[in-house]
Amino acid sequence: MAQLSPVLKQATPVLAARGEGVYLYGEDGRRHLDFTAGIGVTSTGHCHPRVVEAAQRQVATLVHGQYTTVMHRPLLDLTDRLGEVLPPALDSLFFLNSGSEAVEAAVRLVRHATGRQNILVCHGSFHGRTMGAAALTTAGTKFRAGIGPLMPGVAVTPFPFAYRYGWTEDEAVAFALRELDYVLATTSPPADTAAVFVEPVLGEGGYVPTPAAFMEGLRERADRHGFLLVADEVQTGFGRTGRFWGHQHSAAVPDVIVTAKGLASGFPLSAIAAPRALMEKAWPGSQGGTYGGNAVACAAAIATLDVIRDEKLVDNAARMGDRLLAGLRTIAERHPEIGDVRGRGLMAATEFTTVTGTPDTALAQRALTESAERGLLLLPCGAHSNTVRMIPALVVNESQIDDALSVWGEAVEAAVKG
Ligand code: PMP
Repeated sequence: MAQLSPVLKQATPVLAARGEGVYLYGEDGRRHLDFTAGIGVTSTGHCHPRVVEAAQRQVATLVHGQYTTVMHRPLLDLTDRLGEVLPPALDSLFFLNSGSEAVEAAVRLVRHATGRQNILVCHGSFHGRTMGAAALTTAGTKFRAGIGPLMPGVAVTPFPFAYRYGWTEDEAVAFALRELDYVLATTSPPADTAAVFVEPVLGEGGYVPTPAAFMEGLRERADRHGFLLVADEVQTGFGRTGRFWGHQHSAAVPDVIVTAKGLASGFPLSAIAAPRALMEKAWPGSQGGTYGGNAVACAAAIATLDVIRDEKLVDNAARMGDRLLAGLRTIAERHPEIGDVRGRGLMAATEFTTVTGTPDTALAQRALTESAERGLLLLPCGAHSNTVRMIPALVVNESQIDDALSVWGEAVEAAVKG
């Protein structure tokens, strides 16, 4: 009998039999409150009836056409629907399967479009695990150690992580923009710089909202030096942050948006969006992949967009996110071991540190375990995995937020006692 590879590292002990809304049911019949949502994917909750119905109908009609070979209606309709929610200038789309693939496509696009090689990324960024995307990822050594040589042409610039530096947000932004100018004056001159990739909330790097002034500073540098601003909205798109797109917390409109996760409620689908004039500069045939833009995934994505609109899930994410953050802050007040609570919409995080401010990974791990034992599923993030994040489906309601907070309060209490 075959065994699973030992490199598999499962964050929770759950063997899931089925999912419904924000709940997962194990094969043992136990119910879990799922605040991982498949790592921020099941935006409309597990098995939303409208998504299930749309996918079932499509499975029985056409599963796969391969849209660079044979076009299909779900992909055309989805393109139209995304046109209603994207910034008007970003009127051209290309579909793939995963976040990493979409990041790779965005790298190709910006290099083709500008004729320049370098990509700027922020410290603590996560853009994926494929080889190009891994080169853009600085959120932790585990994502890149031992797999190099990585793709050249990547320059790293600081992220304005105020808590990490012990500064105000304004101080952190001023520092990060000053350093960016220094990077542009030294390691990656504008003539070599194709784009800067930024997450509107630093995701795997620790759930740190990107300050509006930093996004706007990136936009200003991009315009001044003729490079492109790419928003990696893989985790922050589709209402997750309480606005439809994460970048909408600032006045900066990106040139390219990379999206995946929440797009299709769990079906593998991703996309890049850019102005047509830019997209036309990618060389025909240079982008693509056999499974990209699968018809069932597209049908599920259309249903996902319907549900987000009809159930007002963006507003719900904003309100539930505020409630969650307020509750996490109240719990943190009781525990000096919690160094920071932060988030935006339904991306909320608690960072554990020792009293001297050193990351406390062991305590975060204990809190995760205590929480899972009490039926609340959570994930870590951050370079030291000392931050516990909550990313429930956007359909989460007040009583489910309160249930999670009550379990979390007990779990932290137990973890601190050791
Ligand atoms: N970009 C961001 C911001 C992400 O959060 C992720 C996944 N966590 C990716 C890219 C990669 O997506 P995928 O795992 O679907 O390849």
